[in-house]
Order: sequence, then C-alpha cells, then structure tokens
Amino acid sequence: SLTSLVSPTGALKRLRSPFVGTSAQRTACLQCGYTAAIRHFTFDSLSFHLPLQTRQSLLECLLTYTHLDTIDDFNCQRCSVSKTLAQLEEQILTESSAADARRLDRTGTKGRRQGVAKAHLAKLQKERDTLLRALAENNLEDASMEKIDLLRSGTSQRPTRCTKQIMFARPPPILCVHFSRSIFHPSGQTLKNDCHVDFPEILDLTPFVTGQLETQPRQPLTKARWVPSPSTTGPDAATSTFQYRLQAVLVHRGSHSSGHFITYRRARVDQASEQWFRISDETVDPVELPQVLAAGDAYMLFYERITPQDMHLRSV
Ligand SMILES: [Zn+2]
Repeated sequence: SLTSLVSPTGALKRLRSPFVGTSAQRTACLQCGYTAAIRHFTFDSLSFHLPLQTRQSLLECLLTYTHLDTIDDFNCQRCSVSKTLAQLEEQILTESSAADARRLDRTGTKGRRQGVAKAHLAKLQKERDTLLRALAENNLEDASMEKIDLLRSGTSQRPTRCTKQIMFARPPPILCVHFSRSIFHPSGQTLKNDCHVDFPEILDLTPFVTGQLETQPRQPLTKARWVPSPSTTGPDAATSTFQYRLQAVLVHRGSHSSGHFITYRRARVDQASEQWFRISDETVDPVELPQVLAAGDAYMLFYERITPQDMHLRSV
C-alpha cells in the first residue's frame, strides 16, 4: 500500500524499478596486461540485434552478448603512460645535457632564459615522477595524471589490442528482452527481420552472472559455473541461483511499417495453478504453454526471477 512506502520520518522510500539490473564490463590490454577498473552499468532491458538468418535462440543471443571479444583499436592507459614516460626520460636527458653545456660555456645565455630552461626541466622531472608513481601503484586513472599530456603532441599513439567482456553483476527481478528486427537496406528502405527466436520457459542466467572477478585479459571475467549450450538438458537447481520464468511475450505480426501486436501472458487462476492467455486487442483466449513457446516472431520477452520454491507453480 502507499502508506507502507512512507518511512516513520515521512520520507518516501527509494523505489527501485523491477526492470533495473547491473552489468559489469572489463577491458584488458593484451600488450601490457593492464585491466582498467571493472565498470558497472545499470540497464532496464537487453536489446539484441537479430542476425540475418532464419533461426536464433535466446541462449545464443546471451552467449554472443557475454562473449570475451578482442578489439583492435584500443587506447590503453598503461601503454600510453609507459610510452610518455620513455619520451619524458629522453627529453630530460637532452635538456639536462644542454644545461650542463651552458654551465661549461661561460659565454652562453645567462639570466632569465637560463631560469626558464631550469624551470622547464623541473616540470618534466615532476611529470616523470608522477608517471613512475602511477605505474608503481597501478593507479593509472589518478586525477594528477590529467595535467600531463599523455599522448605527447606530435606523436601518434599506436592502438593496442584488448579483450572486452560484459556480464551481469546484479540481475534484475524482471528481465526484459527486446529483439531488434530492423534491417536497414542500402536503398533507404527499412525491412523487418523475420528471424525465428527460440526461447525457453525457464531461463537460467547463472552462467552469465559474475562471481569472483578475474583480471587476466585472456581469462573470462568470471569462470563459468557451468557452460551453457543448446544441448544442455536444463538448469540444475543445485548450481543455479539466477533462474527466471517466462511471464509474457510480445509478438509483432506484419511488416516493418505496419502490423499488429499481440501479447501472451500468464496469470494466476487459483492458489496452485496459472494459465496462459493470448491477448489481441479486446480478444482474450486461454492458450497452452507450447503455443506460447512456438511464437517465433517474438518482439519482447519478460522473465520473472524465481526461487526454487516457485517451481511448484506450473502452468496448466
Ligand atoms: Zn597496455
């Protein structure tokens, strides 16, 4: 009720949308092995672009989404710092030998210009010390580094290869999946991708959820608790802690520019059983689960996170 949302102090409790989950993303350089801090993002739905093929499963979409990818044009912070440091060392060497030469040559420039050169050398040495400390402490995103021109104007930073992976850190109570079915044809036309999507009643997200985090670039972000494959007989209740049950399916019939939406959803009919319904405008018909799972032209899927206790509730 509304009153239960108000705490004794009168402040409204912060309500978290049931669709909101958190994902974790790791980017790691293959040249120096540096892994930047694992970044977390919130999401309220997953959007999968369907391939131009006749059939694809939700499992394949999830495997592609969480795959450990290799990216070629990555600007690694650690590689930039190392390269900048080498350039600084070289510049410091050149400038200090020039200063030594001036000291020996008594007829050389004196006074203000010498003072400027000395100050510049001190600035370079300070920058070098900052970079050395950052490398030693592996604290490469430090604010003090922002003042240093890491790419040293005039030099082009060569991109390195990195691995990138995204997984779920905190899966949402309700998982909303959207399938992008738009095909942008070179002629300027937008067409609908009729790819058939296979999806299960019970979805196990456990293999895609982070556990202990791994920082080695070639290792997955988290070692899989079990490896999902289309031939896997099904989730094992003992090892699966992130199980979801299909709650609703939105289907689009027709072409890209016109058509009709229908919804399949399940509803509780009594204490122990539930029923699936097909809803098309004002027409509501009871249907069987196999008919729902055969709706290959799904546009959106809604899965509700369940506990092992919920498993007794089976659709009728
Ligand atoms: Zn690197």
